[in-house]
Amino acid sequence: MTIITDEKCTGYSRFGHPERPARITATVEQLKSQNEIPIEWISPTKISDKQILRAHSPEMLARLKIPQDFDADTPYFENISDFARASATAALDALKFLRAGENIFSLMRPPGHHATREKSMGFCYLNNITIAALEALATGTKKIAVFDFDVHHGNGTEDILLDREGVAFFSVHQFPAYPGTGEKNRGENCFNYPVAPSAPREIYRAALARALDDLKNFSPELIAVSAGFDAYARDPLAQGTLLAEDFHWLGKELRALKIPFFSLLEGGYSRDLPGLIFGYIKGVDGK
Ligand SMILES: [Zn+2]
Repeated sequence: MTIITDEKCTGYSRFGHPERPARITATVEQLKSQNEIPIEWISPTKISDKQILRAHSPEMLARLKIPQDFDADTPYFENISDFARASATAALDALKFLRAGENIFSLMRPPGHHATREKSMGFCYLNNITIAALEALATGTKKIAVFDFDVHHGNGTEDILLDREGVAFFSVHQFPAYPGTGEKNRGENCFNYPVAPSAPREIYRAALARALDDLKNFSPELIAVSAGFDAYARDPLAQGTLLAEDFHWLGKELRALKIPFFSLLEGGYSRDLPGLIFGYIKGVDGK
């Protein structure tokens, strides 16, 4: 198992904001103190504007340098442009390592799946997963799926991928919930699996299983996974009902598809996040 992270991604925070540095530091600590699975640690490399601009407008990229909050959830931070670029870089590196045959997880912040083509929002500044998916399509992959199990709808991912050739988006999320989208399928290639707030765990798991079945039928060459851990029953931001073992199950189910995949951290705000990630990557690693 290879994990991409960088201690620099903990270099911004706002007091009381749930998307906080401890999400990463506590997870690194837990993963480094275990010996069930060997982990190779690497840092993100480099990204070009051209790679970012497949997913975003030039205005949006320029806006990252203007010192003004993006919305109430999404503050401006000094150097947020660099932090966002590093997280997107890790997504591109994840693709590279996947193509080299590695099991790979990007443990970075900020997350990305709410950032639309034109707008940073919902703790997200650049849409990491679509930057990687569009890079894959631009460099030889003919068919890619994005699977998003964050409890919130990946509205930004949908916005960027809607009706793009060669890619399909499968999102399982709570509805209604932030950001208010994701009730129905959109276009030819965006498939939404809404789950009611506080729906029983079996219902949530059934929606995940259905999405994975549909994804399999799309028969992609590879899968980019938006791995959010906030559908967990004790997460403070939503009313999901999944237990720790369900994230392990998800890792195993993805592996069982026998389609190469890489995963990027999206949300997940409970104190148990490190254990949830550990369970998931154990599943990914076949344990
Ligand atoms: Zn979320």
